[in-house]
Amino acid sequence: SVTDLPRRVRADFPILGRRMDGRDLVYLDNAATTLKPRPVVDELTRYYTEVSANIHRGKHRLSETASADFEAVRRQVAHFAGVRGDEVVFTLNTTEALNLVASGLGLEAGDVVLVPFDGHHSNALPWRRHARARHIPVDGSGRVDLDAYEKLLRGRPRVVALSHCSNVTGVYAPVQKMATMAKEAGAVTVVDAAQSAPHGRLHFDDVDFVAFSAHKMLGPTGVGVLCGADGALSLLDPPNLGGGTVDWVDTERYQLRRPPHCLEAGTPNIGGVYGLGAAIAYLDRIGAAALAAHDRALARRQAAEALARPYLRVLGPASPSADRSATISLAIRGVRNLREVARILSDSYGIMCRSGHMCAQPLVDRFTDSEVLRISAYLYNDEAQVARVFAALDEIVETVAAPA
Ligand code: PMP
Repeated sequence: SVTDLPRRVRADFPILGRRMDGRDLVYLDNAATTLKPRPVVDELTRYYTEVSANIHRGKHRLSETASADFEAVRRQVAHFAGVRGDEVVFTLNTTEALNLVASGLGLEAGDVVLVPFDGHHSNALPWRRHARARHIPVDGSGRVDLDAYEKLLRGRPRVVALSHCSNVTGVYAPVQKMATMAKEAGAVTVVDAAQSAPHGRLHFDDVDFVAFSAHKMLGPTGVGVLCGADGALSLLDPPNLGGGTVDWVDTERYQLRRPPHCLEAGTPNIGGVYGLGAAIAYLDRIGAAALAAHDRALARRQAAEALARPYLRVLGPASPSADRSATISLAIRGVRNLREVARILSDSYGIMCRSGHMCAQPLVDRFTDSEVLRISAYLYNDEAQVARVFAALDEIVETVAAPA
């Protein structure tokens, strides 16, 4: 099914008017970061041209405006994520949010933390640094092995870190079921929602912490979110102290502010938070149902195009009906240099895709001995663009494939 979403939204994205050597820009690297619509760019400009003041610092009118706007976005994010208004911490990105939890929980070297085998490095390395990580295995098609997971839970992990949607395979893990199992086993539960938040797929039960990034959901770079449900933020030891984190200070003692404020030391990315507010408002206007329907249509088209080409191998479940986002990673038989393919797509076709290990190297290495090419679509991409990238690949493999 074709949705008319791209037709409705494309004019909102100024960069899509850009020509690449005379060609239309086809941007298919959305899992890395998304393009920004005019209302987000305008909101950044509005902060810097009309407000520009610091938050929570002074009583002058501009500072009061900045503080009120900043706190309004916090409530907006909380509503979007399904947590209370005081359960949202602004960070730099998902990576910093996950590090905040991994370093703040007071883990000891012997503690066990379960981490997703198909997770992003940002949801593995912070845990590996502070505890003993055990990987939750995936089966031959890249799906979580729930039997193995259940056995791992019997080892009483202190934390279970989950990945909602893989940035390599695009496949959604059954995180709700997994979180409930982890809670029953007594673990603190954490969900990396970097790839699912852009589709409005949040609102979990039995999840203590959720992390995501503004820049993957039409917002600016430099702003991330850590949500801590049901008071979970109070489990965290603040990594940084200083301005903004204390109620009062004398030369002997100080009184920390309550979360989220004690976890936001120093001046935050205020303009970026304004931009995130505009991004969420934009996504809300489109609606999660329309986003999801469009995402499913693109995902099915990607899988069908890939399956129709014997020279391509899909990482993860190849079935067009899998619960997947419109992110697909491909290995190309006879072609090891995927960087070269990505370069030709860019320079000769105006199509932007990513190649590499996608910061999930254990998973990619398990499925292929080369890098992979990732095509990740979002609301402004249509099925014709997906078809175009596959048609371009047909031409490119002719020229770069090594003779068998
Ligand atoms: N987790 C996942 C699943 C991701 O896709 C990404 C970004 N590729 C990250 C974490 C890290 O996000 P950021 O770079 O914004 O910290």
